[in-house]
Amino acid sequence: MYRFAPSPTGDMHIGNLRVALFNFICARQAEEPFLIRIEDTDKARNIEGKDREILEILSLFGIRWDRINYQSENLKFHQQLATKLLIDKKAFACFCTPETLEAKREAAKAQKIAYRYDGTCKHLSDEEVLNNEQPFVIRLKKPDAPVTFTDLIKGELSFAPDDIDDFVIMRVDKTPTYNFACAVDDMMFDISTVIRGEDHVSNTPKQILIRQYLGYDKEIRYAHLPIILNEAGKKMSKRDNASSVKWLLEQGILPEAIANYLILIGNNTPSEIFTLKEAIEWFDLKKIAKAPAKFDYKKLLQINREHIRRADAKEIAAKIGYSGEDIGKLAQFYTEEASTLHEIKEKIDKIFAPKTCEDFHEEFELLKDIAQNAPFFVEFDDFKAHLSQTSGLKGKRLFKPLRVLLTGAQSGPNLSDLYPYIKNYLGEIIK
Ligand code: GLU
Repeated sequence: MYRFAPSPTGDMHIGNLRVALFNFICARQAEEPFLIRIEDTDKARNIEGKDREILEILSLFGIRWDRINYQSENLKFHQQLATKLLIDKKAFACFCTPETLEAKREAAKAQKIAYRYDGTCKHLSDEEVLNNEQPFVIRLKKPDAPVTFTDLIKGELSFAPDDIDDFVIMRVDKTPTYNFACAVDDMMFDISTVIRGEDHVSNTPKQILIRQYLGYDKEIRYAHLPIILNEAGKKMSKRDNASSVKWLLEQGILPEAIANYLILIGNNTPSEIFTLKEAIEWFDLKKIAKAPAKFDYKKLLQINREHIRRADAKEIAAKIGYSGEDIGKLAQFYTEEASTLHEIKEKIDKIFAPKTCEDFHEEFELLKDIAQNAPFFVEFDDFKAHLSQTSGLKGKRLFKPLRVLLTGAQSGPNLSDLYPYIKNYLGEIIK
């Protein structure tokens, strides 16, 4: 089983979506089920409704799941297994107060050495533990030897015991830390492969160690995806608008284009434009570059134009608030000069809005009158000839007001190229 494990604590970042896409693709390729695990154990940080929003976004991208699990429902297993680790002496109760630990952390900082837990509570006897009524956390005992694993993207990685440290697995309030809940759940749900962001790479030895101590010997494979950098070469953060999936969708970028782009970057793909379904046929995790991927908004817009052109015309019309294949085709035609559905909608709304023309006011009114009473012309040239003959207008005195009359804009595509898409709507346009 593969899994995607979002925390309902904030907006979906493109990095998260990329992780979700890769897991979904690999699950399909391996013909294994796909689990969504909502990591909601950090009650203080959970945002009401974020879980549903995440699921809606996944659905919009064509990501389907076979199972869904809210991590908070697994609490009793986390507590039981933490107790087992205590009994087996693989973990220990730690009564150090946050203030004491903070002071030690500060002291380490002042000496410019990395802070490590100093083992104060590691060797307490059972009696000392049982007689102590103070609140405690549970820490896992650090290993004796390095923890090594082979990452599917990064290759072999090794972590020294001191870097793993005697880390906390259960908090004072008897809730699991991220590492413990994650390690246990990956085991309980028989996860075969974990694909996630590089920011989790130092968590992996901890999660491996937890399962080793629990006696689980089935290997889980790991792939850590390089981070995505913004155009300035810095890690994409919340401050970069384009890092938010919601923002990109609000701009009028198609989910198909966003998915295409996120699969394309830092990868070696057989073509540049593809669907998720096609990607399932050839995607190869091993081809993902080790170096960070760079986000290029212009490239995403170019891919969006391609997907708008390839989409079903009726669907495109519906997405911009119109109906019918013709308007969809008109929208697709406008990808010549607009990149997002938002921009395209603006152009098309202008075409259908009442118009005024200041520079050539009289010519405009005259043409409007003639056009409103004109017969239907299949060809633009015939339409133009009729307007010119009837009005006596030529050159820019004809073309400038005519462009405004047909598009509501001063500049834009060749009217002869545009005409085939609008000729059946002239009655609604010329006003
Ligand atoms: N909830 C974690 C996150 O969103 C999951 C990390 C993981 O896949 O283990 O970063």
